[in-house]
Amino acid sequence: MAAASGSRTSTVIKFLDFTSGIAVNSTGHCHPDVVKAIQDQCAQLIHMSGTDFYYEQMPALAERLSAIAPMPGPHRVYYGNSGAEAVECALKLARSHTGRQQIISFFGSFHGRTMGALSLTGSKIQQKRGFAPFVPGVTHIQYPNAYRDCNAALPTEEILGFACARFIEEKLFKTTLPPEDVAAIILEPIQGEGGYIIAPNIFLQEIRRICDRHGILLIADEVQSGAGRTGKWWAIEHSGVQPDIVCIAKGIASGMPLGICMTRAELMDWLPGSHASTFGGNPISIAAALATIDILEWEGLQNATTVGTSMLTRLKTWVEKYRNVGDARGRGLMIAIELVEGKETRNPIPKLRDQIVHLAFQHGLLLLGCGETSIRLCPSLLVCKQDADIALNILEECIQLATADLQ
Ligand code: PLP
Repeated sequence: MAAASGSRTSTVIKFLDFTSGIAVNSTGHCHPDVVKAIQDQCAQLIHMSGTDFYYEQMPALAERLSAIAPMPGPHRVYYGNSGAEAVECALKLARSHTGRQQIISFFGSFHGRTMGALSLTGSKIQQKRGFAPFVPGVTHIQYPNAYRDCNAALPTEEILGFACARFIEEKLFKTTLPPEDVAAIILEPIQGEGGYIIAPNIFLQEIRRICDRHGILLIADEVQSGAGRTGKWWAIEHSGVQPDIVCIAKGIASGMPLGICMTRAELMDWLPGSHASTFGGNPISIAAALATIDILEWEGLQNATTVGTSMLTRLKTWVEKYRNVGDARGRGLMIAIELVEGKETRNPIPKLRDQIVHLAFQHGLLLLGCGETSIRLCPSLLVCKQDADIALNILEECIQLATADLQ
């Protein structure tokens, strides 16, 4: 990749980018306001180790984040450089604050590749193969996947979601995991790498109730779903549930490395020096984040809702139209289609998914897979309707080409 602007990249060929560098370039490539903020900041201060010296960018961003947090303030924030670091902070803090060791996480979740975050991850086996032993004290349980897991006994996503959450109290807490040992439950309100799977509201609400009842902290990993991607600042806001801790990264700084762990203030009660990162909260990354928040506030959130809704409406018609498109789902501009062998079996067909992604690449559209057999669409939150239409035209043509022999 040589250069890029807005939703378009340019090498020798021009691409329409519906990956955003894995949901990172929330304001598109090289938004002029972000570029200017970075350039101005470079000329002023590049690094001064915010672990030991004060610089004004850190509280400035903390104030902006506090104003848009998914739980009431006051808040405290930790600055790192990546999503995994935000998750590491949440994990260590939950243990340190509660004095408990156990964590509940979910199959299908992705929380990062550092040892603590990887221990929480339950997504793909190659991410874990060869790296054991993991951080002890993590229990993975089922995350409600309405398309895959609803059946005669669990006929609706609400019943499925409720059952998955109830499993914690009715099975885990009665058999293997004493609730008083559990420091936190960590979840993605929409599983990202796991396949853009949307948690039913009732699942999140019931998890919140269980946390409150047993003094457990609720960590929302919004690394992929946050920073406006779903049309609200945080995906968990769609459910009305307030987490105790939020992990933020990817889209918050439009491509500059920044990971943030934001908590209710009283939770971050560890002593200075307990946890820190030399580069965390780098002034240039923070300048990019402040510009990003402005842009998303002015137009990004609204645009994600408007363009995302129009894209999803069209994608849903493909479920009727194409035998191999089993499901279309999403919120805002966090959208996926799931490829299947046929509507009846719903068998995954990852080879077809990979073929479509490859064909799209050859036709000038950048896409990424997610989960076992889905394709995700996570363009810039400023993507215009016209580019969205072009992208869906290309994708539809690629589906037709790839499935022609299968019909
Ligand atoms: N959490 C979630 C939900 C993610 O999607 C990711 C990355 O895809 C991470 C954590 C890890 O972020 P990073 O790759 O910046 O360490």
